[in-house]
Amino acid sequence: MRTVELIERKRDGAEHAPGEVRWLIEGYVAGRVAPEQMSAWAMAVVWRGLSDAETHELTQAMIDSGATIDLSSLGRTVVDKHSTGGVGDKTTIALAPLATAMGMPVAKLSGRGLAHTGGTLDKLEAIPGFRVGLSVDELIAQVARIGCAVAAQSDDLVPADRLLYALRDVTGTVPAPGLIAASVMSKKLAAGADAILLDVKVGEGAFMPDLASARELAVRMRDIGVRAGRPTACELTAMDSPLGAAVGNALEVAESCEMLAGGGPADFRELVLGSAARMAVLSDLGVDLEAGRRLAEEAVASGAALRALERLVEAQGGDPRLAERPWDVLEAAPVVLTVSAPRSGAVAHCGALAIGRAAMRLGAGRERKEDPIDHAVGVVVHAKPGDEVQAGDPLAHVHARDRGRGEAAAAEVLAAYELVGGPVERPPLLLETIV
Ligand code: URA
Repeated sequence: MRTVELIERKRDGAEHAPGEVRWLIEGYVAGRVAPEQMSAWAMAVVWRGLSDAETHELTQAMIDSGATIDLSSLGRTVVDKHSTGGVGDKTTIALAPLATAMGMPVAKLSGRGLAHTGGTLDKLEAIPGFRVGLSVDELIAQVARIGCAVAAQSDDLVPADRLLYALRDVTGTVPAPGLIAASVMSKKLAAGADAILLDVKVGEGAFMPDLASARELAVRMRDIGVRAGRPTACELTAMDSPLGAAVGNALEVAESCEMLAGGGPADFRELVLGSAARMAVLSDLGVDLEAGRRLAEEAVASGAALRALERLVEAQGGDPRLAERPWDVLEAAPVVLTVSAPRSGAVAHCGALAIGRAAMRLGAGRERKEDPIDHAVGVVVHAKPGDEVQAGDPLAHVHARDRGRGEAAAAEVLAAYELVGGPVERPPLLLETIV
């Protein structure tokens, strides 16, 4: 096979013959297919798409490029949960201990922030001492001991996706449903989950800007899961404004603790409790959605979820006092600026993309892969779409390392808001469920 011919075939809109996608992936990992060829192929896929057969072959070829994890020694149905990425999406930090407290084992491999979206690993590293680099044996032993572990994906798991993802990130070739579906599902399947819950984010702060493309992605991922014998459910959730209030690593960890203690912003609580119920349905607990929801609410109300977070933090090297008193453990930013409403009105828009970028420029995310993270900084939004504010009310707080960067971010946050005269209906968070 000649690489150029395969690129031309996709460029011209044809479907690859069986074996061709695998040949490309194996060639790229082996160095036979050059990065510029792989990025040309990825751009052709962005324009022309991948058929179901091509997407399955890509997923399987990526899984076969590395090691896989076998969780069968746990003797349970392990349900994994994955979000396609958003702004203020700290769901895993609350959901993993909550699911554990409900009786589900959680063996979660998470990622780092990408562009304006945050990553669970970066957030967990805001907890001093927290170790995300567990070996597979350590991961399984910890789940067997305390029911929960959240760790970084090791380099030998799906190396083809790591290479291809890094290339797509810098060549404008991320937003193709077939490529995203194969990327996400290859990692979920290789990580050994028996069932999978996917949170597909939709909106300006997500990789899928509209419901139609998010639905296509969700259906493709579900089909890959089902074909591999792993029941997969997808929730499509809005990402036009940040999830919850906090955007930034330590701030998001603190908000997750608040949620597990029974408080926190309503949209974030609803997402975590709803996802926990849906995980329970996929698990071996033998419950329906309603009973799952009750289990989730009880685990929060009894304090069991907060205790599970304490055990998780302690097991991975952090101070368990975090759960009850997060700010005794986390570093707070030295400068906090208030962004005030310039006039009275209702919030029509609180742009996730602009706020994610403001947080990133404060240092909460990376502009380039090698950039360090400042765990203390970020943005907390107090007014969300549908809220009424009076002139001078705080819309948001900016947490910054210094005043200069804080003021620049405050201007960006203010520009992310749209205030209108009339009342605004609160937009729904859960848009659709695909099971
Ligand atoms: N998350 C992934 O893991 N892969 C993608 O391609 C996009 C989001």
